[in-house]
Parts: sequence; structure tokens; C-alpha cells
Amino acid sequence: MKNGLYLVASPIGNLNDISARAVQVLKEADVIACEDSRVTKKLFSLLGISCTREFITYQNYNEEEQSPKLLDILESGKSIALISDAGSPLISDPGYKIVRRCREKGIYVTTVPGCCAVIAALQLSGLPTNRFMFAGFVPNKEKARIDFLSDLRNIPSTLVIYETAPRLLKTLSVINELFENREVAVARELTKMYEECLRGTAEELIAHYTDKAPKGEIVIMIAPPSENELEPEINVESLLKEKMKKMPLKSAVKEIVAGFGLNKNEVYELALRIKNEQ
Ligand code: SAM
Repeated sequence: MKNGLYLVASPIGNLNDISARAVQVLKEADVIACEDSRVTKKLFSLLGISCTREFITYQNYNEEEQSPKLLDILESGKSIALISDAGSPLISDPGYKIVRRCREKGIYVTTVPGCCAVIAALQLSGLPTNRFMFAGFVPNKEKARIDFLSDLRNIPSTLVIYETAPRLLKTLSVINELFENREVAVARELTKMYEECLRGTAEELIAHYTDKAPKGEIVIMIAPPSENELEPEINVESLLKEKMKKMPLKSAVKEIVAGFGLNKNEVYELALRIKNEQ
């Protein structure tokens, strides 16, 4: 096995989804970097892989602190398998910092791809898959959740977000307010016994999950906006020209600045240029 960092995907529910290459890499790596060694050791025992190796915990909160340790191991010529509790490393899971440091130092990095809830959910959703945006976890606080979702409103792609069962209804309510009439899909317990993927309006899904409290792990997807839903691009220059035909330059600048929250000096300079060109 070549020395370097191996990013190993693990199952997200069904043990049999582990790849043959992942098993081989997990058997041969000198060191295992994982989120929770109890979870990874349990997986190893189910797969019949020996645990007599060094296990290093590598989590979102200690990535900065643990990266130099992993780099030392890699620079000493050993191999590390980086594995998440479930799914693909780096996808709402730790790994980004160590991959970046390895790339900077010219250390070999490879991926052993496999399960990822984003992809599994999209495949089942029946929503367009040609263009999608994964936005990670929805923030927990109410205002942050609203800001987070409103920032996504004009993105012309299927949106994919991670959520937890206890927060699903709150997030669906905000989606209902902000994404009127858009199709929404909720994928739950992917690859597990009670796997389900429901599609409908946010209102329909709220009714369903109010009746039957959601359990397990959840991915929410929102259909892309229709053409007429997208906010038109603001062409400041042509708006300013129009206003300058009807009112003095200063008033036109004032209205544009107030209307669109733009920088006063920049709009004023643009107005002067338009005036000089006329
Ligand atoms: N790295 C993982 C991946 O590749 O999907 C994701 C890790 S993230 C910490 C955990 C979140 O992924 C869950 O809260 C849920 O939103 C989603 N997730 C993971 N497994 C899932 C499953 N079996 N069904 C639905 N969603 C799942």
C-alpha cells in the first residue's frame, strides 16, 4: 500500500455498502483517523477487520490541533485511513484541513469513494439532478436559519441540506414561507430498513410529519426556482439613466442608493460618467 492519506467512505446505514477497496485500505493502513473510535471499532468488528492499530480521533473541533500529528505520521512514511462515523469524509464531516495541508506539502492523498447521503437522497428525490447545490446543515438558531435559507432562494439548482429529525418541522415551516409552491423532498433513514423519500409541497410535508413525528437521519431537498420566480438582475446603469431623464442627478443617485442599498460614492461617480457621455 502506497504511503499517504486515504479518505475512506463508510456505510450510512447498510453495512454491505462498504466497498471491497475500503475494506482492503482499512485492513492495511498503519493508522486510523476517525471521529469516534468506538463507532469505528464497532464497524471494524462487524467487518472482521483487526483493531490492533493506532486510532487517532480527528473531529471538527480538533482538526487544527490534530493535523500536525497526522502530518508527522504521514511524513514519517506511514499511511493513514481517514474515516467518518458514517458516509464520506469532508462532507459535513472532518477532513478538509488535513487534505489541504497534505496538498500543500505534496503528500499523496487519494479517495476511496462510497456512500454519501447527499447523493443517495438526490437519487431518490425525483427532483432534477443535473445541477444541485449542497449547503450542509441548516443552522439551529431561528434567525440564522431564516437567513441561511433566504440566501439560497435565487440559486438555480436543486438545493440539498442536512437536517435532524427534531428540527425538521421548524425548517419545513421556514421553507414554506420562503419557497412558496416549490416541490420539496424529505429523504429519511437512507439505506436502512425504514428508508423513505417523500415529495410534495412544504405544506403537505408539514401536515404529514405533524401527524407522524419524523425519526432518524434526514436530508431535505428543494426544487430549483422556475424562470419567473428568479429575481431579475439589477442593471444599475440603465435604471440610473432612466431616472436621470426624469429628475436631477443628485435625486436619481439618492433614489438608487436608497432602493438597492448601494455605495453612494460609486453610484454618484457612475451618474457623473453617464452625464458626461450624454
Ligand atoms: N459525511 C456524511 C455523508 O457523506 O453523508 C454526512 C455526515 S453529517 C455529520 C450527518 C448528516 O447526514 C445527518 O444529520 C443527515 O442529515 C445526513 N445523513 C447521514 N446518513 C443518513 C441516512 N442514512 N439517511 C438520511 N440522511 C443521512
